[in-house]
Amino acid sequence: MKTNAIRINEYGGPEVLDYCEIDLPELKSGEARIRHNAIGLNFIDTYHRSGLYPMPLPTGLGSEAAGVVEEIADDVTVVKVGDRVVYTGRPADSYSEQRNFDANQLVPIPDGISFEQAAALLLKGLTAWYLLRKSYAVKTNDDILLHAAAGGVGLIASQWASHLGANVIGVVSTPEKAELALAHGCSEIIMVDEDVAKKVLKLTNGKGVSAVYDSIGKNTFISSLNSLKPHGVMVTFGNASGPVDPFAPSELASRHSLYVTRPILADFINTREKLLHGAQELFDLVVQGIIKININQKYALKDTAQAHRDLESRKTTGSTILIP
Ligand code: NDP
Repeated sequence: MKTNAIRINEYGGPEVLDYCEIDLPELKSGEARIRHNAIGLNFIDTYHRSGLYPMPLPTGLGSEAAGVVEEIADDVTVVKVGDRVVYTGRPADSYSEQRNFDANQLVPIPDGISFEQAAALLLKGLTAWYLLRKSYAVKTNDDILLHAAAGGVGLIASQWASHLGANVIGVVSTPEKAELALAHGCSEIIMVDEDVAKKVLKLTNGKGVSAVYDSIGKNTFISSLNSLKPHGVMVTFGNASGPVDPFAPSELASRHSLYVTRPILADFINTREKLLHGAQELFDLVVQGIIKININQKYALKDTAQAHRDLESRKTTGSTILIP
């Protein structure tokens, strides 16, 4: 059976993304075949493409999509043909019209959530879930700092943190992004070109924040540490500006007993029970209208290279999807 998909034969810029016809293998034990209706674009896809997170080549790309189950292996019981499902996970191959995937990682899409919304929200929303509920569990009246607050993870996390009662200070790069972040749960905004730590101390009456959620990495790590109150938690979860440089544990001592964690989503959804539990919390908030999903960019699957260019040049806001 043939299908259309993105393949990369070498690491590099968006130009290495090749839209082509591929052979879809027979289903293996435990797998289902899904026909995609919408595919989620995520910053991690750019790390896979560039080789920052290496994968054996040639490879597909993409870690999130929503669609319909077309066929299941004989031993699959968790989904059936015709089910509407969404998933996140490896191997990265969701930039495709159809694919085979581990049925245990498929999440049924509830009524009231479309394929496009599901593809725009699962990976980013589960990330917001574990960041705010597990890595540092946000409490009412906590001051927190959230980088890239108008991005895909950012707009979901800002709404969720605000719902949990936190005072969310968002960092963004443009006035348009500031407006968007303020409309989605941020109570204060700091622009990237300001002295972030200094402004945080000013906004918190000299105290600092309980937690920083930092997806920028290299450029912001030290100023994020400087924004924390004593015993505060640094959650460094991405590398939009490059990976964080090695640092000495004494950096945490001199700033009054800080904690640092470097989490990845996969560790929080590594059983079907945990995956469905996180997805349920997320979907409930979306269906209740507490978290609104902003699909602010849509591209045809064959135009994925342009989507990567726009994401990496900070042109996008909220979630982006690819349509096969
Ligand atoms: P976003 O939509 O947030 O896009 C990235 C944003 O980062 C940009 O819009 C931009 O916002 C900001 N940014 C700051 N510096 C740079 C730079 N040098 N180059 C590009 N962008 C920059 O992407 P996602 O929502 O897909 O992902 C957000 C982050 O979360 C990523 O770093 C991703 O790797 C990480 N992540 C980590 C996970 C984990 O489990 N560890 C899971 C999911 C995501 P602005 O212009 O406002 O500065």
